Amino acid sequence: MTLPVAAAWYQATRVDDATTLIIEPHIHVLEQANMWLVEGRDRDMILDTGMGVVPLRPFIDSLRRDPEKPIICVSSHTHIDHIGAVHEFETRLVHPLEADEMAAPSGLRTLFRRDMPEALLQTFLDAGYPPIGELLIEALPYAGYDPSGYLLQGAPATGLLKEGDSVDLGDRRYAVLHLPGHSPGGIGLFEAATGTLFAADAIYDGPLIYAGPSMSIAAYRKTFAKLRALPVNLVHGGHDPSFDRDRMLEIIDHYERLWAG
Ligand SMILES: [Zn+2]
Ligand SMILES: [Zn+2]
Repeated sequence: MTLPVAAAWYQATRVDDATTLIIEPHIHVLEQANMWLVEGRDRDMILDTGMGVVPLRPFIDSLRRDPEKPIICVSSHTHIDHIGAVHEFETRLVHPLEADEMAAPSGLRTLFRRDMPEALLQTFLDAGYPPIGELLIEALPYAGYDPSGYLLQGAPATGLLKEGDSVDLGDRRYAVLHLPGHSPGGIGLFEAATGTLFAADAIYDGPLIYAGPSMSIAAYRKTFAKLRALPVNLVHGGHDPSFDRDRMLEIIDHYERLWAG
């Protein structure tokens, strides 16, 4: 199999004055996660770090108005598509329930379909994702790239984030919400001043994954109840385009009906 060589691995879209969305367009849609850079007055934040196929930090620094400013890396949870480049950041925060997994990833760690358990592949198909080819990448980051050299590294947390904590960028403050269901220690970040929620994989406008290892529909129901009660205007998810409160409620309704059936 010969894959094309990508012109650029990462793609950035400025969402507002402080917020930039970064994706990896050449990853299979299932693992093509959103990374969110928020530039604050005193420090910047990167929420999630993609697959780590090629270094992320130089690209992030090239986007920042002041690349010398401290940057906090928050991992919303520890799936392969969210912690790939976590080791490139000095400050690494995660929920306590997933700190061990971030330090030494034990789940999916390679780009090869053959390394993915059949039950997990079936979970993805059942959720509504298209089949995966031989590899999770659909282009090479550069000529001669060897996919077998890829291994999800992870890195130990330098601090922990749990419900009630906050991430303070100086002029912007995010409350940490524990949003389990998709993963035990999944977190979201809510900025009350603007009603903006970074929801990660707790809710996004695409097929949600709730039936894999360490996932819980019972926990997911409580997470959805929490989201319903939140005064949210805008949701930036862990995958797919952002959406408003009405769409959030539609998505929640859809899954609650599905789980009730
Ligand atoms: Zn994800
Ligand atoms: Zn996930």
